[in-house]
Amino acid sequence: MVRKTKASKEAVAETLTELARRGVTLTPATVEDTIERNVHAVADQLGIQVRSAWRYFDASALANSVAQSVQVALVAREAARRVERTIGGTVDRYDVPMNRPCPYCGDVLTMHAGGREDNRATCAGPDCAAPVGLVDGRRTWSSAEQLAALQRELDGADRRRKRAEARARQRAAVRAREGAAA
Ligand SMILES: [Zn+2]
Repeated sequence: MVRKTKASKEAVAETLTELARRGVTLTPATVEDTIERNVHAVADQLGIQVRSAWRYFDASALANSVAQSVQVALVAREAARRVERTIGGTVDRYDVPMNRPCPYCGDVLTMHAGGREDNRATCAGPDCAAPVGLVDGRRTWSSAEQLAALQRELDGADRRRKRAEARARQRAAVRAREGAAA
């Protein structure tokens, strides 16, 4: 049982606000769980106390990651269901730029959904080396399995980036302290 600290309550409120801005509604309890996991993970990665890890908490980055997961999960589920779905043709095709870059080449990813075609994600990178086939010259994730694999890669890239950022901040803090002492 985690005691609800002021930092935790503020983080939940901030993240809910950031999520609402991205059109995602989650319960405060779900957000709180996600934040606690996130902060504990940062503490583990840096080998610091959980209460010290709160300073690395970034509501906006977490909201991006959660919103992206929700989006990809929805599209993957939709892809799995498409065979049994009644296709009425009333939903237009829409393209959603994803808010995280391609984990293979760093270029822009786009989610294509709706309409009569299958859901898929494409990468804009001309030399992208993602392990999926090319459609019209673009790396394209189209099966539910491929979309789920993309989600795992995006999450992994997020964790690596967060770790690198946290380390950079820690190094900057050490340099600042050394500068002040000199
Ligand atoms: Zn790519």
